[in-house]
Amino acid sequence: MELARIGEFEVHRVAEYEGPFIAPDTFFPDFDAEVVRSNPDHPGAKLIDTATGNLIFSFHSFIVRTPHHTILIDSCLGNDKERPTRPQFHRLRSPYIADLARVGVKVEDVDYVMCTHLHWDHVGWNTRLENGRWVPTFPNARYVMARREFTHWQEVQQRGEDTPHRLAFEDSVLPVVRDGQSVLVDDDYALEDGLWFESAPGHTPGNVVIHARSRDHHAVFMGDVIHHPLQLLKPAWSTLACTDRELSRRTRTRLIEEHVERGSRLLPAHFPSPTVGRIVRHGSAYSYAFE
Ligand SMILES: [Zn+2]
Repeated sequence: MELARIGEFEVHRVAEYEGPFIAPDTFFPDFDAEVVRSNPDHPGAKLIDTATGNLIFSFHSFIVRTPHHTILIDSCLGNDKERPTRPQFHRLRSPYIADLARVGVKVEDVDYVMCTHLHWDHVGWNTRLENGRWVPTFPNARYVMARREFTHWQEVQQRGEDTPHRLAFEDSVLPVVRDGQSVLVDDDYALEDGLWFESAPGHTPGNVVIHARSRDHHAVFMGDVIHHPLQLLKPAWSTLACTDRELSRRTRTRLIEEHVERGSRLLPAHFPSPTVGRIVRHGSAYSYAFE
């Protein structure tokens, strides 16, 4: 079943995990519980798990089928990855490949893997473990990444920083570079077929959103510019995971304002099913209208 159609593009979503993930006051350093209490009907408040109090997240990939190509946007968590600081996803065994097949995509069908950024939860299935070695999961794909983003994480890796992103760079990014399947591009890179990057820095230095336009239809893969609908009540809330919280806040505020005006269809990287929707005004802030 397709998630969305954008002109001639067919979009599917394959979720690797959907459920409670992290406490809001951990994830958002500026979190204020009163904002949730006073907006009980906002989708942000509803997407907090009542049992654990944690934010409900989805971790998913999007598959875009154009008349010419099969494109995977953000490759999720990955199996067998060492993520000791994320015990929920440490040495994961998920049926992701079978789930891709269920939407009609075999690993050899993927022509491009496009990463909004190189955090551990967006690059995991770039590679899989084969005889003790990380190999590209998609043997025929070009892996497209923003050069600015790659350079940043390369420096983090060379400094040996103790973060899951460094581990991900080593097990999920460097192997595709080693095997000659990576393509490093500018932040405004355009792939043919009406798919292009727009620079959206702050969450990470080379973070991008990905536009898709076909015929007169347009949608934006928002990556992690907005993680959770609560940030539409409080666009100023950057996250624990943002490299530059102030720049992240400015980028998020700018894009929210721009897309509420345009009524854009959005596909955020962590909004649970049905994921696709539009930002709408809600008092002096914003809400999300899921399709
Ligand atoms: Zn993410």
